[in-house]
Amino acid sequence: MTFLNEGPRVDRRLLFKSFISPSKLLSTLLKQNITVLFCNCRSRSIIDFEDVETFIRDIGIKDVISHDSLCSLEGIEFYKNVLNNFPKKLIVLACSKRNFKDIADEMNYPTENLYVLEIQELCGFVHSDLFKATEKAKRMIASFIAQNFSQTQKEVGGTVLARSKGLEAKDIRTLYGRPELCLSFKGACSSCMSYCPRDAISSHISLLVDRRLCNVCGVCENVCLQDVFYIFPLNPDFRLGLDYLLKESWKTSGAKKGKNFLEHNILVFACGEEVKNTFIRAGISGQKYKEEILPTFLPSPSAITVNLILQAFNKGAQKVILLGDNSCPPKIKAYVENAIIACKMISSKLNDRIRFFWIKENDVTTLINILEGETEDVEPEVLRKQEVSVDYDDRREELVDLIISLSDKEVIPSSKLTPFGFIEINKSDCSLCGKCANICPTNALTFHEGHIYFDHSKCVGCNICESVCEKRLLKCYQEIRTAFLDKSIKVV
Ligand code: SF4
Ligand code: SF4
Repeated sequence: MTFLNEGPRVDRRLLFKSFISPSKLLSTLLKQNITVLFCNCRSRSIIDFEDVETFIRDIGIKDVISHDSLCSLEGIEFYKNVLNNFPKKLIVLACSKRNFKDIADEMNYPTENLYVLEIQELCGFVHSDLFKATEKAKRMIASFIAQNFSQTQKEVGGTVLARSKGLEAKDIRTLYGRPELCLSFKGACSSCMSYCPRDAISSHISLLVDRRLCNVCGVCENVCLQDVFYIFPLNPDFRLGLDYLLKESWKTSGAKKGKNFLEHNILVFACGEEVKNTFIRAGISGQKYKEEILPTFLPSPSAITVNLILQAFNKGAQKVILLGDNSCPPKIKAYVENAIIACKMISSKLNDRIRFFWIKENDVTTLINILEGETEDVEPEVLRKQEVSVDYDDRREELVDLIISLSDKEVIPSSKLTPFGFIEINKSDCSLCGKCANICPTNALTFHEGHIYFDHSKCVGCNICESVCEKRLLKCYQEIRTAFLDKSIKVV
């Protein structure tokens, strides 16, 4: 791959070594020296912060400090005192009334070590049931920690590697890739080019990314099941956050049985800029909605992926709502809508369970109407057949396992975002010349000891094998046949 204004590359496989799995989160947290400062907000919040404090200690954070009113003048002095002690990493759980980042900046505290979750507007001010709101607060806090601290792990490694190659911090938002995996040169794929909203990607002798046009929206990385792109800084690990947000219940030590229980899990993937501001506004004005609404904020709608939506269902979501900002570029809107269509095709049960809306920033009334409307008629049901972990570093492998786990169909039409093909060969006339296996860009067809094998999970449905066979013996169907996804078949 060639980048215009190309910078040094980092081998992404080195970085994957620093990924953490959910089971290792606790030990990682303990090593990271995190301080949590939370505001009890005695005046308005419904959350039981004593229970939450015990919960935070239970998940392995020992340094937990609270204040009754962090937004008061006295509270701000208290916050400054905490900053003066230079905690290594500080999580503030409070409301949006004060800009905690600006104050930290004034105090010369490194803001990259400060993590703020507006737990009051997103939970404490918008619910009425103390037990449910407290359960939701625990899930949101655990999910926030899991997402952000797994990212910190990766980012630190990335920053060190990039700096060692002479890059400035400002240059770290850059693209790295594994060009050897790109299928465009053989005419087998062009997905990133079709979805890039700024037409920054083209393919001639090699894949070209014009950095003058690229604004690092990340859609190319999300579209590509070959994992060719790799973008800094990485988004928080949203899949890891899902594990915690959708956990059945958090039992804090000493909690009464049945105390921490939400009946439905309605996961909301929302744009972390404009739509998050609308959520915050709803919180400030105290607009109420059901505790079962579990929001997770993505940097932009382009961060959504088919895998992420399917993982939400795999982890126990009963419904997924996508909320984007109306002013989103048309190609990103098309990408999100196509991702939803691709997910719905995988299982008939997902048809009514995925909803998406484009809303205007600060349109609180529309937001509340959507949230209220979408919490009705959700029948809790176990949708997955098997658990699929969030530890994959091969997106295609993860997608295959998610389809096997969630699909209720024998045949699924493939799409640009779920690119699969199924090959049938008229074997009676096959001379075993091996041309199809030699040309297959993904090794879905292989020639071994006088036989041809087909691995459906690797086939992208490019048709190249079909056209190379002089006797026209192959037929490539643009579909996923679920019964064959996990096997290699001897076709001749
Ligand atoms: S989506 Fe991936 S495989 Fe397809 S053309 Fe782009 S980089 Fe190549
Ligand atoms: S098996 Fe045929 S259609 Fe599938 S990826 Fe290989 S060449 Fe393309």
